[in-house]
Amino acid sequence: MTVFLYQSDPYCREFDARVAEVRGEWIVLDRTAFYPGGGGQEPDRGTLSGTAVVEVKKDNGSILHKTPGHAFSVGDEVHGVIDWQRRFDLMRGHTGEHLLFSCLQSISPELQLVKISIAPEKKSVIVSGELDWDMVCQAERRVMEAIASGLPITERLVKRDDPYLTEARVKMERIHGDTVRVVEIGDLDRAACSGVHVRNTSELGMVLVTGLTSARPVGDLEVEFEVGDRAKARASELAIMSLRAAEALGSTPNDLLGALGNMIREKERAAAALRRYGAKALDGLVPSDINGVKLYSGIFENMDKKTVADAATRFIKDRAMCVLGTVDERFMLVVASNPSLKVDCVAVLNHALSKIGGRGGGKPNFATGGAPTGEGAEEAMVAAIAAMTDALMSSDI
Ligand SMILES: [Zn+2]
Repeated sequence: MTVFLYQSDPYCREFDARVAEVRGEWIVLDRTAFYPGGGGQEPDRGTLSGTAVVEVKKDNGSILHKTPGHAFSVGDEVHGVIDWQRRFDLMRGHTGEHLLFSCLQSISPELQLVKISIAPEKKSVIVSGELDWDMVCQAERRVMEAIASGLPITERLVKRDDPYLTEARVKMERIHGDTVRVVEIGDLDRAACSGVHVRNTSELGMVLVTGLTSARPVGDLEVEFEVGDRAKARASELAIMSLRAAEALGSTPNDLLGALGNMIREKERAAAALRRYGAKALDGLVPSDINGVKLYSGIFENMDKKTVADAATRFIKDRAMCVLGTVDERFMLVVASNPSLKVDCVAVLNHALSKIGGRGGGKPNFATGGAPTGEGAEEAMVAAIAAMTDALMSSDI
């Protein structure tokens, strides 16, 4: 059995120990301050007498330290050093998660914690239940109050049938053994946890929610957050970005969402108008006649792709063919013909688009495709019209 120094003193960053067991690259010590991970928090990194510890894990009552290239033997004295910058960040992230979730749940009581991940590059909780940005904002205020109040964070061991647990966040099915370790944040939160935590909320500095996105399974939400100096730096960046966004929209930060909503509605109205005018312009196309078959052709700017495809579908109900293009940043081409005409529209389309670095596919009588730029669109149109004409002339219809 290893003595877990991190449990009695989460601030222990250096320690002396004796090698109890060697399992290849893995070392077991009689005592260790290396946290093996758990509760969503990643395991520690560091060194044992100068040799890097690249992985730490728990195995029954022992903690295994993966120390490639070591020359340790059972009985050796070693000096362990924890990568403290990393650990303190994770420890604050973990404590921040307790505080943040507790405050979120105080705003949205039905909220359930599904998953926690506390890693150097990302800290988040996945939750199920009702949560939106207004709730996040209210919860963040409570988090800030708790940090400003400097609430103590303490641990206590209680029996699993202790009535004290009725007021705690605990999933009894996950508790093995007779006792439960409960972490308290002042009188704000009680949660069963065997991880490492800071001793006072003031050590968190700041907890900032930086993302609220949908997660799997559908309906769950992922709440990303930052703690400490990273939270402060991110808050500053996000504030500047919102100021710049407001400036770009000719608004103020307070009116930013309203201004953005207006802009989105305006854009939708403009797109709807463009679709209507586009459909009219398409319906006004005058076909040329090739051996008694109508050929509709035209190239448009910024025309909605669906509007173009719908027009092509209408045209080929008759004994007709069409070559329709639309140009924005890209070029989109539709080549279609009435099925009775037996023209290979996919071949025609790819013949035309290959000249300008594009391609596409579809059915023999209805092909769509595109090219990465609008340059050469005219050339592709001319090639498609010529190929359609040739195909029609050479067919025996
Ligand atoms: Zn914890």
